[in-house]
Amino acid sequence: MQLVKQVLMIFLLGENLTNQHTIAAPAAVSGIGLHTGVKVNLRLCPAPANTGIVFRRTDLEGFIIEAQSRNVARVSYATSLMKKGVLISTTEHLLSALAGRDVDNALVEIDNLELPILDGSARPFVELITKAGIRRQRARRSFIRVLKPVEVVDGMRRIAVYPADVFRVTYRIAFPHPLIGAQSIEFASGSSNYATEIAPARTFGFLEELEMLRKNSLIRGGSLENAVVLDRQGVINPEGLRFPDEFCRHKLLDLIGDFSLVGHPLIGHVVAERAGHAMHAQLVSRLLREKNSWKLVSSPEVATGTVSQPAPVFATSEVS
Ligand SMILES: [Zn+2]
Repeated sequence: MQLVKQVLMIFLLGENLTNQHTIAAPAAVSGIGLHTGVKVNLRLCPAPANTGIVFRRTDLEGFIIEAQSRNVARVSYATSLMKKGVLISTTEHLLSALAGRDVDNALVEIDNLELPILDGSARPFVELITKAGIRRQRARRSFIRVLKPVEVVDGMRRIAVYPADVFRVTYRIAFPHPLIGAQSIEFASGSSNYATEIAPARTFGFLEELEMLRKNSLIRGGSLENAVVLDRQGVINPEGLRFPDEFCRHKLLDLIGDFSLVGHPLIGHVVAERAGHAMHAQLVSRLLREKNSWKLVSSPEVATGTVSQPAPVFATSEVS
């Protein structure tokens, strides 16, 4: 039985994904930060095995900040990293693209405090990774395999992770807007196509909120070029939506980026309902703290004594 499970595991993960990967050559992109509006040049470089994703502020004598849960700073409108007072803001879309393309190790050089927002999705970062190429490394990957459920609840908002045989995400949102309402999406590593189904989904905001954010200088770089903007009836962007459920897909994109801060690929099923960056970060931090709820495994090892169980379905949400 154990052997059958191991064979199934190799099949599900894909033999190629048992090894670490970095990018093949440096690749660069420039743009402006969504929140700060500052111009920034970003260069993605290869990194040795077991480096993880590491940011380097070239404008601050090469100060290094590791993309790890312990360095998460502010998580309201974006996921920012901070170490010794040095900030790197809005990291989630690049982190999502790197995780979505199974890149374990990379050095990300930036010459300002915020990553470029580009078109508001992870697609330009996926294109950057494709341009750089992906290189398989000799070292094996280590996975965090979830053994017990871990949950964070905040009123109607919930996020939890359950044991599963691959990385899976179920995301549900509910907004009282005629174009959004209740949406849900499923993602499963190995059977969903991150690059075409998730990466193109753009960040979104409501016109009324955006005016408040703009007044408070929280979105100096925001425009219809880098976000889907909704008024009371619909989308004001002339090009419309990329997917009818682009909103829910973008939340999933953010979650994949935020969960990469675990530091290892996850084997487990994340179920999120009306969550956001702050709750994603809380669950990552709780999971890492509750050390008896997971085990570090090198694929295709299957943790013994665990039975995968389907994630419980949360109560159906009412659109509030
Ligand atoms: Zn986002």
